[in-house]
Amino acid sequence: MITLKSSREIELMDKAGSVVGLVHKHLKEFIKPGVSTLQIDRFCEQIIRDCGCTPSFKNLYGFPGAVCTSVNEVLVHGIPDHTILKEGDIITVDVGACYKGYHGDSGWTYAVGEVKPEVRKLLEVTEQALYKGLEQAIPGNRIGDISNAIQTYVESFGYSTPIEYTGHGIGRKVHEDPNVPNVGKPHTLELLKPGMCIAVEPMVFMGKPHCVTLSDGWAVVNKERSLSAHYEHSIAITQGECKILTKED
Ligand code: MG
Ligand code: MG
Repeated sequence: MITLKSSREIELMDKAGSVVGLVHKHLKEFIKPGVSTLQIDRFCEQIIRDCGCTPSFKNLYGFPGAVCTSVNEVLVHGIPDHTILKEGDIITVDVGACYKGYHGDSGWTYAVGEVKPEVRKLLEVTEQALYKGLEQAIPGNRIGDISNAIQTYVESFGYSTPIEYTGHGIGRKVHEDPNVPNVGKPHTLELLKPGMCIAVEPMVFMGKPHCVTLSDGWAVVNKERSLSAHYEHSIAITQGECKILTKED
């Protein structure tokens, strides 16, 4: 069931989202060669708690980390551990924060030091795909318009998006209805209305979109183990352009 949020609820989600945005602002400086994914996890958790929030993903479905740290070919759900980042790696940090019962969720892929031009391109296209999706997030459009904008843009560069992993509604729970797929047809799925809050999150493989879960039961890769990127904002549908909630204030 899709719930429309009141302006008070959207204010609380904006607060949660601004903390997520603040974490990402600090991550830009913190992520460098020699840092472990566990250090990143602790760094994020500290900021979230210092801001009076709790990490949304800790223990969500049993996930052990405060944030997801997905390195190189891992698309989503990487568990923070003693892996040390090296020059040329990429890492997606997916951050969720809960404030007074409302969540914000934003993942972002970072280059560790200098990366190859083709890797830089993957990151740029995936980030741009997020904004292509957000342009469609206006009342009167449907979820499928967001999905189609993302899919069309990503595929025009020869990349792919998986069907199994999607964006989602967000609010009192991190994952609410509706699903927001990264693959779809225009004018399909749910109608967008002011008060709907959703996470739009293109996940992009350089290679083909056949997903496999690794033996830890969490980390998702594709069969050919190509590099992957992921950019996400939580937004509120308004009367006009969407409001991005997961930005630093
Ligand atoms: Mg996320
Ligand atoms: Mg999400």
